[in-house]
Amino acid sequence: AVVSLNQEKEKEVGVIGAGLVGCLTALALQKKGYKVILFELRQDPRLKSTKEKNLRSINLAISDRGIKALKYVDENLAKKVLDKVIPMRGRMIHDSKGNQESQLYGLYGESIKSIDRGYLNQELLNEIDIINKSGVGYPIEVLFGKKLINLSFLGEEENPTVTIVDQSSHQEQIFEFDFIVSADGAFSATRHYLQRYVRMTFKQEFIDTCYIELSIPAGPGNSFLIDPNHLHIWPRDKFMLIALPNQNGSFTSTFFSSWELAESLNTDTKILNFFKEHFEDGLKLIGEDNLISSFKNNPKGSLVQIHCNPYNYKGKAILIGDAAHGMVPFYGQGMNCGFESLRILLEMLEKNNFNTEKAFNQYSKERHQDLEVILKLALDNYNEMSHDVTSIVYLMRKKIDSFLGRLLRGKWLPLYTMISFRGDIPYSEAISIEKRQQNIIKKLEAAIFVGTIYAAVKISKYFASKFVK
Ligand code: FAD
Repeated sequence: AVVSLNQEKEKEVGVIGAGLVGCLTALALQKKGYKVILFELRQDPRLKSTKEKNLRSINLAISDRGIKALKYVDENLAKKVLDKVIPMRGRMIHDSKGNQESQLYGLYGESIKSIDRGYLNQELLNEIDIINKSGVGYPIEVLFGKKLINLSFLGEEENPTVTIVDQSSHQEQIFEFDFIVSADGAFSATRHYLQRYVRMTFKQEFIDTCYIELSIPAGPGNSFLIDPNHLHIWPRDKFMLIALPNQNGSFTSTFFSSWELAESLNTDTKILNFFKEHFEDGLKLIGEDNLISSFKNNPKGSLVQIHCNPYNYKGKAILIGDAAHGMVPFYGQGMNCGFESLRILLEMLEKNNFNTEKAFNQYSKERHQDLEVILKLALDNYNEMSHDVTSIVYLMRKKIDSFLGRLLRGKWLPLYTMISFRGDIPYSEAISIEKRQQNIIKKLEAAIFVGTIYAAVKISKYFASKFVK
């Protein structure tokens, strides 16, 4: 756990963005003894007026890497958060005939956990209030409605100077910090200004997938209409529907498809006919009116992957979370990975005695390969979720993988287990282990194939010698 107050210096830190990663970063740095100001362009999500604007209930899957980081920052906070999750032990595959088949995620009943994004963000902000009231360490100043519009590095120390504009009064204010941590999301403004100073290799990669949020209401007495302990998937190859459970008996469902398809479903009849044809059981759960209204009124989201290298400017600025490594959501790792990045950064700060230049350089150097691996896995997992989960070859390989996992306990680890349930295994190590294991599986399959052919030839020769005279 984070304990030691940083004896080095009461440095002043600006954290940009009070999303999930920014809030946890502010908390963690405060606990290390820094004076933190957290800037957020939106209003406080806990205000009634803001809540009403934000009626959609997006939920996320939190797994080992995210939980580990929460615990690292604050055990009690992790406990509070985990009290409000719904465990999902596997995928429930809904085929086009309405049959359901469970595919477990773990070898021993492990689960990823569904959590309301808004709740998590608000819990992190509440925790900041608790810390501030406790009087331990420096209070965290949280400034809502403040947008970063410029960043430069000035003076002998090259301290970061940020220009912040108030979203209501449009007044600008300049702040100087010892360093800043930028957690302002995939379309990070900080990253844009940072690129004037850092020779940063940068790639922003949109995929041709659009997502629309839908919902499955709760049944009578807040009951769940489908199994709450699964992540439900309706895989249809080029498009799919998924659903994650909420505490109140409802499910947040998301439709993914190409942009062309999503945009072509532009009348009530087209939407209904499409869902009747491809997601008949899903449509019954969502309800016709609810589907049409959500499909037409909810925004169509785009999906983007962000690659950067390096992530820092000396010991003065560093990108974290989606600002550094935004990824498509198909491995459920975006936030988990962002939290893990923070934990690793904190460990490096500790190891380097809070010398930010050494720690940030080390972070950029060592974290990059892991981030590239998870970005690729996230992208590849779209095919797995929308198509492979129904393929016989995939299912056979999964069965062999799980069988070996149980047989060779600890010595054989399915990839999903390593990514979602073993936060102690870096992403890059997980993929190396997976490659080795898959080679073994391929050799086993080849041996079984050759063995079967050999046996078939032997048997046919035997019968030929007996009966064909
Ligand atoms: P964000 O959440 O984007 O927060 C950035 C914050 O910065 C925002 O509050 C924004 O208002 C603020 N900001 C932006 N610009 C400025 C500025 N100029 N000045 C001040 N403030 C600014 N991840 C998982 O781990 N599991 C999942 O199951 C999962 N499912 C997902 C499903 C979908 C459909 C999507 C789109 C993503 C999913 N993710 C999931 C990814 C996850 O949502 C992100 O990785 C996570 O929210 C990143 O957090 P962040 O704090 O880095 O960025």
